[in-house]
Amino acid sequence: METSNIADKVVVITGASSGIGEGMAKLLARHGAKVVIGARRKNRIDAVVKEISAGGGKAVGFAVDVTKRPEVEALIKGAVDSFGRVDVLVNNAGVMPIAPIQLLKVEEWERQIDVNIKGVLYGVASALPQMQKQKSGHIINITSVFGIKVFAPGGTVYCATKAAVRTLTEGLRMELHSENVRCTMISPGAVASELPSGTSDPSSAKFLKDFYEKTAMPADSVARAVLYAIQQPADVEIDEVVLRPTAQDF
Ligand code: NDP
Repeated sequence: METSNIADKVVVITGASSGIGEGMAKLLARHGAKVVIGARRKNRIDAVVKEISAGGGKAVGFAVDVTKRPEVEALIKGAVDSFGRVDVLVNNAGVMPIAPIQLLKVEEWERQIDVNIKGVLYGVASALPQMQKQKSGHIINITSVFGIKVFAPGGTVYCATKAAVRTLTEGLRMELHSENVRCTMISPGAVASELPSGTSDPSSAKFLKDFYEKTAMPADSVARAVLYAIQQPADVEIDEVVLRPTAQDF
């Protein structure tokens, strides 16, 4: 077990049943964090908890749909009941059903807004009272290079949600420093995960599959950036990390 000033911190991670969240849970637990993980696929969450526990780490898992505020509140309560506090919340859950705007996939637009934006806000609303009580905390939002650059046609709504998370994170930073709550945004480029398979438009799906196969970096690369932000001394806040595969051209 590697240890550092992350050891024994209680870290809540949404969307940890696959991809970046799963990789993050495993890496942070290896560094001594107590991880509290949630997503809708409880069987996958249970498998991650089992693997971490088998390696000597500390983890608990919950079924959580981040579009449902009471479930996000229950995740934070589960962290406090299990480990007594919440040092870090990583708002990681996200969806990316890429499709040209002309296809008018309005329900997918709504789902992206619900998961990628409202899910983050429910996380903040649920964790902040506990962080205020502790007089310390850290909120880490996983945004995207697509929150900085627009990928279109196809990514217009997704990019808008990630740009919204950028703006939210900067506003949170300005509002919450007085509460001793650090705020960090992590903006990755293409990462190998289940994310690109979430599109219902066949031609967008083919483009993404080819692009990700050629370009994507492993989920661990984002996990290391999160670890770096958490490991800083309490008086240092990492505001943003942007990371891309070296081979990514935009
Ligand atoms: P995955 O699809 O592998 O993981 C997404 C996670 O979000 C899953 O654990 C999924 O769990 C969870 N999730 C989706 N909807 C909900 C919901 N309603 N409630 C709770 N959990 C939900 O993709 P990634 O690991 O790549 O994505 C993680 C984050 O990284 C996302 O915010 C994504 O936008 C961002 N990102 C990803 C990049 C990439 O190229 N992969 C690049 C930049 C940013 P379940 O289905 O079990 O609920």
